[in-house]
Amino acid sequence: MKPKILLSAPHMGGGEMKYIQQAFDQNWIVPLGPNVDAFEKELGQIAGADHVAALSSGTSAIHLALILLGVKPGDYVIGSSYTFSATVNPIAYLCATPVLVDSEEETWNMSPELLEEGLKSEGLKSEGLKSEGLKSKGLKKRPKAIIVTHLYGMPAKMDEIMAVAEKYEIPVIEDAAEALGSKYKGKPVGNRGKFGILSFNGNKIITTSGGGALISSDEAMIKRARFLSTQARDPAPHYQHSAIGYNYRMSNVVAGIGRGQLEVLQDRIKRRREINRWYRGVVGNTPGITFHTEPSADFYSNYWLTCILVDPKITGITSEQLRLAFEAENIEVRPLWKPMHLQPVFADCPAYVNGTSEKFFRNGLCLPSGTRLSDEDFLRIEEVLRRELSR
Ligand SMILES: *Cc1c(COP(=O)(O)O)cnc(C)c1O
Repeated sequence: MKPKILLSAPHMGGGEMKYIQQAFDQNWIVPLGPNVDAFEKELGQIAGADHVAALSSGTSAIHLALILLGVKPGDYVIGSSYTFSATVNPIAYLCATPVLVDSEEETWNMSPELLEEGLKSEGLKSEGLKSEGLKSKGLKKRPKAIIVTHLYGMPAKMDEIMAVAEKYEIPVIEDAAEALGSKYKGKPVGNRGKFGILSFNGNKIITTSGGGALISSDEAMIKRARFLSTQARDPAPHYQHSAIGYNYRMSNVVAGIGRGQLEVLQDRIKRRREINRWYRGVVGNTPGITFHTEPSADFYSNYWLTCILVDPKITGITSEQLRLAFEAENIEVRPLWKPMHLQPVFADCPAYVNGTSEKFFRNGLCLPSGTRLSDEDFLRIEEVLRRELSR
């Protein structure tokens, strides 16, 4: 059996051990310290963020953002349906209800039109706004937040989404877990909404093995996030608490990995985009194959994963058959995310659906996009693509 080709393996830059060694030398083996402070500063510069709280995961960053926005049991929070479950799980942690919004065709991310139609159908502003098209889901109150995901690195249509959010006065959280380094209208994603969140999990474009960050232009909110993420300890010599705390801070060892990874982020983005171009060179002109593509110069994707849609009526092969052909060659290829409104655990949640993300799920694949892939790996991938798509 040939060695396994992974979808997106971690890729260390070389500088990580230096920062980890410093943490060991200074005995800062705790969830705070000089690497954490420096990582927040360096990440803020790269992500275009004014204020950063380094946390234990992207999921914990979303959880804290919802807490900071005052989400309580019985509330509603709108989320992209087409995403990874970690985007919406924290809504359930707070005993609030996710309201799922489907995608549009261009970016594959949340449809601003569907978002507006959905809110309109609820008659939240005034009875006169009742929509003709979409049926109300009977929301009993205004949603407390909108979480919009920039999936696979592709920025969502933020101008349009922010316009709807502002009209209905609902704060926005940008889930940029997959989109570090991606830009919308020349600016890094994650900074248009009230909060942005980032992830440094093992398969992301850079990794700290596990980790995340909450970003915002609101300094007081980020200070509060740091406080809540370290058990909410009031300033007193004894342990005094006037709020419920969490153990969500990033450790000083992990932040050392992050500092080393930030040094190579631009190289990693460059390489992911090269890999995306390489795939287009191989099957870009194949009838029935559609790439996840920047709709215009306003969108700059880090192309964390290169994704395609396969139209079996034209190619003569389904995406699942193509995936199995890769699997037979020990090459990891994955179906696209299964939308949240199709997940058993969220089946009862209100959802504004147009069939778009379901179509992506039925026909789509993520192709190996890791920056450690070798020339030989690409030959093996190309061989399968050419063989399976030329029948
Ligand atoms: C990875 C990911 C998360 C969660 O981040 P973790 O650091 O793994 O908790 C959230 N949303 C999306 C879209 C992700 O891909």
